[in-house]
Amino acid sequence: MKRTRSSTIGYPRIGEKREWKEALEAYWSESITEKDLLTKMADLRLNDLQKQKDLGVDLIPVGDFSFYDHVLDTAVMFGLIPDRFHAEDSSLLETYFDIARGNKGAIASEMTKWFNTNYHYIVPEFDQNTTPVLKENRPLSYFLEAKNKLGIIGKPVLLGPVTLLKLSKGYKNEDFGSLLNTLVPLYQHVLKELGEAGVEWVQLDEPILGTDLTEKEQEYVTDTYNKLHSSNIKPKILLQTYFEAASDYEALISLPVDGFGLDFVHDDGRNFDALKKFGFPADKTLAAGVVNGRNVWGSDLEEKWDLLERIREIVSGDRLIVQPSCSLLHVPVTVKTEENLAPELKGALAFADEKIEEITLLVKGINQGRPSIEENIKHQRERLQLFHHFPPRIKPDAQKEVSDWGGKEPIRDLSFPERQALHQDQFKLPILPTTTIGSLPQTSEIRQARSRYRHGDWSAATYDNFINQKVAEWIDIQESIGLDVLVHGEFERNDMVEYFGEKLDGFAFTKFGWVQSYGSRSVKPPIIYGDVASPEPMTTKEITYAQSLTNKPVKGMLTGPVTIYKWSFPREDIHAFDVTKQIALALQKEISHLEENGIGMIQVDEPALREGLPLKDSKKQQYLQESIYVFRLATCKVKNETQIHTHMCYSEFGEIIDSIKQLDADVISIETARSHGELIADFENVSYDKGIGLGVYDIHSPRVPSTEEMETSILRALKVLHPQQFWVNPDCGLKTRGIDETVPSLKNMVEATKRVREKLAAVPVR
Ligand code: GLN
Ligand code: ZN
Repeated sequence: MKRTRSSTIGYPRIGEKREWKEALEAYWSESITEKDLLTKMADLRLNDLQKQKDLGVDLIPVGDFSFYDHVLDTAVMFGLIPDRFHAEDSSLLETYFDIARGNKGAIASEMTKWFNTNYHYIVPEFDQNTTPVLKENRPLSYFLEAKNKLGIIGKPVLLGPVTLLKLSKGYKNEDFGSLLNTLVPLYQHVLKELGEAGVEWVQLDEPILGTDLTEKEQEYVTDTYNKLHSSNIKPKILLQTYFEAASDYEALISLPVDGFGLDFVHDDGRNFDALKKFGFPADKTLAAGVVNGRNVWGSDLEEKWDLLERIREIVSGDRLIVQPSCSLLHVPVTVKTEENLAPELKGALAFADEKIEEITLLVKGINQGRPSIEENIKHQRERLQLFHHFPPRIKPDAQKEVSDWGGKEPIRDLSFPERQALHQDQFKLPILPTTTIGSLPQTSEIRQARSRYRHGDWSAATYDNFINQKVAEWIDIQESIGLDVLVHGEFERNDMVEYFGEKLDGFAFTKFGWVQSYGSRSVKPPIIYGDVASPEPMTTKEITYAQSLTNKPVKGMLTGPVTIYKWSFPREDIHAFDVTKQIALALQKEISHLEENGIGMIQVDEPALREGLPLKDSKKQQYLQESIYVFRLATCKVKNETQIHTHMCYSEFGEIIDSIKQLDADVISIETARSHGELIADFENVSYDKGIGLGVYDIHSPRVPSTEEMETSILRALKVLHPQQFWVNPDCGLKTRGIDETVPSLKNMVEATKRVREKLAAVPVR
C-alpha cells in the first residue's frame, strides 16, 4: 500500500566525533595513504547511511557525502578543472584537493559562502579551454555502494545544472545559455545510467530557485528541465529547493519533473500560501521540508502536525514525502553525546539525528493515525515548556537596556574627516600602514595549553603566564618584522564567537556540536538560549598586557554583534534584531573597558555580515539596516580619538558597499586575495573615503606569497584607492597557519609595502 514517506536532503559528513577531519588531515600530512583515506571515508559514509536506515528514513540520500565540498564534487565530476591544475601525473583525487587547497604552483580556487550559511563552497571556474566532460558518475558509485553493501536503495543527490553554473565563474553572462547546453547532455547521461542501475528517485538541488531569478534565467530553468525530462530516463526527478520560498511557484510546478522539494520553514509562509493558491499537480510528489534543518531547536510537533494537515488537504498522503527544510549539513550530529548541558536545555534541542526522529514520528502519525504519536507530541510539548520557563534564560537588565535605547540613532560625535585628523595626530602611522587581522598561528602547543587549563591540569596562573609569554614573543616578532599596528594574537581564543559566548550570559556550549565550515574545518557554534548580558570585562587582560610591551598601537579585538549572532544557533522566541541589540550593548561596555585601559584602536570583526544577506532582494534592505544599526550601537559611544576597525570575510561587496560606508568604521579590512583581485573592480565605481585594507595575500593556502606578488597586488589596489587610505594586511586571521609560513609571508608583505612606499615617494601622490 502506498503511504507517506520520510526522507532527508543530506546528512552531516563529518562524523559524530569529527572522524572525517581527522582522516583528511592525516592524509594531507601524509601520515596515512590514499587507500587508508578511502577506507576511512567509506566507513563513515556507510555508517551514516546505516544510521539513517535504523532511524527509519524511507528515502536515504546517497552522494551527499563529500571529501571536501559538494559543489567541488559536482564541478570535478563534470570536468570543470581550472587549467592551472591540469597535471598529467595527478590522480583525480589529488587534483580535487589541489583545486580546494592550492599547491606549490597554483593558487587554490576561490571559496565563498553557500547562500546565507556559514558553509563555504569552492567556486567552480571556467577557463578559456574548459569544456565540460563527464569524468565520473559520482552519484552512481555511491548508489551502488549503498545498494551492494547495505541493501539500501538510496536517493542520489546532485547539484542541479542551473545552480552549478550560476555559482561558477570565469564565463561571460551572455554565454550562460550555451554553457548550460554543454552541461545538460552530461546530466542526461548521468540520469540515464542511474535509471539503468535501478534508481527510483534522484534529487537535483536547485537552491538558486529561492533567489530572485530574471525572466531569462527562469526560461533557462524551464528549458533545462524540459530537456532533462525529454531524454529517455527512468529515475524520477525531485527538484529540490531550500533556504527560501520558490521565487516563482507557478513556473516551478509546471516544470516536467516528478516531484518538488519545498522549504516550509524559511519561506515566511509563502510556499504554503502558493500551494494553497495555485494548488499542486495531482500526478506529482511534494517533498515537504517542515523541520528546520538549520537550527538546533526541537520542533513544536503540534505546529508541524497542523502544517502537514493543511498540506494534506492539497496533496494526498501517498504523494507526500516529509523531510527537513534543507540538508542537515548545517547542524551537529546528535544531542545524545552531550552530557554537560542543563537538562532543561538539552530537552529542547534537536540535532540531525533528533530531527530525523521528529520526521519519522510525524510520518508515523500520518500513516498510522495521530493517536499513534500522541504521547510523543505531549512529551515534546512538556520539554519545550520546561525550557521556556528555565530561569537562567531571563535577564531583566538586558531586556531593559534594549528598550531604553528604543529607536535612538547610534552615531559618533565627530564626522570621519574630523576623527581622521585626530587619529593621524595620535598614531602617526606611515603611509600604507601594515597590520594583521588579529589571530596569529595557533600551534599545537597553544591548543594544548588551552586544553590543559580547561581540564583543570593547569591553574589559572600557569595558564595566564603561558598566554602572556606567547603574547610577548609575538609582540617581539611583529616588531622585528616591522609591522605598524600590532595585535595580541588571540591565543586565548579557541574560536572568535565561542570565546565571547563563554564570557557572556545567555550562551550554552556543546561538547561535540561541530558543523563543517570549510574543508576539514568545523566550527562549534554556541547556542544562544536566553538574554545576553556581559557580567565583566572579557578581553582587557590580554590586550592591555600586549599594549604594555610596545610603543606601537595594539588593536583591541572583538567579534561584532551580527557575527556572534550569525555564527551561533540563535533562540527563535524573540526577534533576531532584539538578540543582536542585546549583544551590541554588551560589546559597547567591553569597548569602554578597553578604552579605559588605554587601548586606542579597536577592531570589531563582522566577517559574517555579508553571508547573512537574505536570498530575496525584498528582504535585503531591512537586514542591512538592522546590521548597520547594531554595529553602530556597539561602537558609537567611543572617544573621538579611538579608531574603530572592522574586518569582513569573503564575498562580492559591490552589492553592500553602501552599507559598509554606513557602518562608519574608520578602517575596514576585507578578504579578497583569493578572489584574485576582482573585488578591486567594485571600488572603481564607488567613492569610499575611509581607511581600507584589501587583503594582499590568501591565508587559506599554505603557500608563502612572494614580495613581487604582493607588491603587484598593492599596486593594483592603488589604481582605485588612494594611498592615504590604503592599509596592507593579509586577507584574514592567521590562526590556521604555521609559524614558518606566517613569519616569511609577513616579512615579504612588509618588504612589498616598503617597495611601494619608495615608488610612491618617487612619484608625488595625486
Ligand atoms: N580577528 C579574527 C582573526 O584574526 C577574524 C577572523 C575572521 O575574519 N573570520 O582570526
Ligand atoms: Zn576574515
